[in-house]
Amino acid sequence: MTTAGTKLTGLIGHPVAHSLSPTIHTVALEAAAIDAVYIAFDVPPGQVETALAGLVAAGVWGLNATIPHKATAFAFADERTEEARGVGVANTLFWQDGRLWADNTDATGLMHVFAQLDIQPGDWIEIVGAGGAARAAAVAAGRCGAKVTCVARRPDRATIIQDLARAFGSPAPTRQGTPRMVINATPLGRYGENLDPEHMGLGPGRIALDLNYEGNSNFLVTTRASGGQAVDGKGMLVAQAEAAFARWFGHLPPLGIMHAALGPK
Ligand code: NAP
Repeated sequence: MTTAGTKLTGLIGHPVAHSLSPTIHTVALEAAAIDAVYIAFDVPPGQVETALAGLVAAGVWGLNATIPHKATAFAFADERTEEARGVGVANTLFWQDGRLWADNTDATGLMHVFAQLDIQPGDWIEIVGAGGAARAAAVAAGRCGAKVTCVARRPDRATIIQDLARAFGSPAPTRQGTPRMVINATPLGRYGENLDPEHMGLGPGRIALDLNYEGNSNFLVTTRASGGQAVDGKGMLVAQAEAAFARWFGHLPPLGIMHAALGPK
């Protein structure tokens, strides 16, 4: 039930029909007994500023932005967090002291995931891909003091990712031994594709983190089979959503409630 005081939160993107965010946020709002709704708005490119201005005029409490509107959300805000500036785009807008702030909770969410995986300063993380998710991973890894190397089909982009991690605290990228963790920040694997051979079947003591939600990529399956740790992208999805929720309501949602809303692990 909504009331005259119900707060509006939501997501702008295009398309948004596939998004899991309304499900996990709605479950969290109910569990936390917060009088708010979370609505997915499918906003066509070219209408984003108009939509954002309208939502702000209507008193929106907080927003997520997804593809392809993250850059516009970043530019629209009055202020930007360091994480948003590092990644260069925003996935969350929140209010503080009457100013609209842009944040990137993909980066803060990944820091939480890295902590759960016990990533330590000096650990070597190899990031595969050099797009927006790779940038979030570089910021998070840099904040953790992990060493970052990046491989991408456009080598100049890989260098940018390594430099970004260094700007956020990573030591210099060197290649001795094997990376403790490999992060797949490409869409590869969703339709049966393999990563490069050195990134498959990571053995004991090593971690395969696939930012895609599906847990059955060859990258994860071969690592699991060879005794390594295999982790899919649902943890990141939940962690970025929890961090956005905390930006809007000042506290995290009840522990585990968003993950449970995604179904069995
Ligand atoms: P993006 O900005 O489009 O970047 C994709 C990266 O993958 C680029 O470096 C791209 O290379 C590379 N790539 C694409 N197709 C490739 C191929 N066939 N071979 C080699 N490299 C390829 O996308 P993104 O936002 O970073 O997202 C990357 C993946 O992470 C997506 O599958 C997305 O669903 C997932 N993701 C998950 C979460 C989560 O919460 N779990 C959050 C964000 C993203 P070029 O630059 O050369 O095109």
